[in-house]
Amino acid sequence: MTEIVAFDDIKDTRRIRREMPDGHLYNTSFIDHSKEHMGAPNVFMIESSENRILDTHFHDVDQFQIVVGGGGKLGKHTLAPYSVHFARAFTPYGPLVSGPGPGVAYVTLRARACPTGGAQRLPAHREKLEKMTGRQPWQVTGVPRFVAPGADGVGMRLIDGLKDDKGLAGYALSMNPGAKTLGPDTAVGDGQYVVVLKGSLIHEGVEKKGITVIHLDPKDGAFPIVAGPQGLQGLVLNFPHPTPQVKTEAKPAAGAHDKLWQCELCAFSYDEAAGLPEEGIAPGTPWAEVPHDFICPDCSATKADFIHLDL
Ligand SMILES: [Zn+2]
Repeated sequence: MTEIVAFDDIKDTRRIRREMPDGHLYNTSFIDHSKEHMGAPNVFMIESSENRILDTHFHDVDQFQIVVGGGGKLGKHTLAPYSVHFARAFTPYGPLVSGPGPGVAYVTLRARACPTGGAQRLPAHREKLEKMTGRQPWQVTGVPRFVAPGADGVGMRLIDGLKDDKGLAGYALSMNPGAKTLGPDTAVGDGQYVVVLKGSLIHEGVEKKGITVIHLDPKDGAFPIVAGPQGLQGLVLNFPHPTPQVKTEAKPAAGAHDKLWQCELCAFSYDEAAGLPEEGIAPGTPWAEVPHDFICPDCSATKADFIHLDL
């Protein structure tokens, strides 16, 4: 079933989720069917006041998060509108630190609501990860680049890194006023979101302004997107088929070699040949010479949490 929800439709659901001496956390619900069944889609917006720290944590389901206001840090990644983070189920990420001033606002989108609800923090829930077999952690933080619309009034571009062979895909979409297009095929994965960030779209004669969230089931088919009078900028996010929790062996990527070290918690890889120049670690630096206080850029695990990948 296709579901279309504009912020203007649900802004009254904004609730204080937590009020703390150092700030607050607001939650605004876009899509929530948890009272009916957990397998349904779930979308909400979190607004966090400045300089708050949400510890490294994971969830039981795949999820996208889009920064829609303010900024901050996720692990060592800088967050700003409209950074997109995708994490598979049971992949720790963080800490999430809201920046100074306005803090950070982000929209969390799940194809299926998380049965355990909130964040499962580390180190408290580390044992759960260690006991699992066949966990396939993976995450990516992407920054969409909106391309200028072409002659048809539509510009759509894949977000770097947001693509896999299970149906995962993320696109940045820009459209001129009144332009029309069809979204990508919905049948390839586990459901799709079209998110209008700026401007508006027209649906059944009604203008829906950003932020508007559209959820499409795989069988719904490509969604006809019609830009409103100001045009629109938005994202199309396709969920991959859920990762089967079965034992699998790590397989080398094409061209990979044997100098790979991997974070046992979130699967971030350190490649000795490539180094990590953005962290000041030159290409060709052996793992043994990586500083002892090195922490995982994605989940903040320590150097001791990395294992040699025997490919
Ligand atoms: Zn990690």
